[in-house]
Amino acid sequence: MSRVNLQQLKSAIRDIPDFPRAGIIFKDITPILGDGQLFQRVIDHLGEEAEKASPSKIVGIDARGFLFGAAVAYKLGLGCVLIRKKGKLPFKTVGSSYQLEYGDAEVEMHIDAINPGERVVLVDDLLATGGTSGAAVNLIQKVGGIVGSALFVIELEFLPGRKNLPPDVPVYSMVQF
Ligand code: AMP
Repeated sequence: MSRVNLQQLKSAIRDIPDFPRAGIIFKDITPILGDGQLFQRVIDHLGEEAEKASPSKIVGIDARGFLFGAAVAYKLGLGCVLIRKKGKLPFKTVGSSYQLEYGDAEVEMHIDAINPGERVVLVDDLLATGGTSGAAVNLIQKVGGIVGSALFVIELEFLPGRKNLPPDVPVYSMVQF
């Protein structure tokens, strides 16, 4: 397995100024997805990180977290759990509200997606304020799950994302801005 070049990964992330609103620099990860070899190496790398926490499921966060999370789950042969924006999941849900870098939101998960005592790893594309992943950890813990680690492709270090996650959840990011 070839290793990911973290500098190449960082260069592939495209800055979109003032999206979705003025003052936000949106980190566009589609160039990673569009490069088959880079995407594969990112998944291999995240897979190795995820394995360290010995999870039985991978939890992906709506929507770009699904792309990375599902691929990691497939690689490790694990189940994949979806944490989605409110109103999108068809079965009975548990919910949690949070503040985003740009606005308020609520996330939901199917009530039976994670069993009590089950270890999971959380995957998302980007850690900004930590509002989304904090709400995701809250949901997992609400149903009795254990978050073995939280993995991100990108971390915005000028925001207090890590501080908004519980101290007992190890946080890992591949590249930092
Ligand atoms: P936060 O809850 O503030 O940590 O925001 C993380 C979530 O919002 C992730 O699911 C990201 O996809 C998205 N997000 C927040 N800020 C950005 C940004 N500057 N560029 C791209 N995605 C972002």
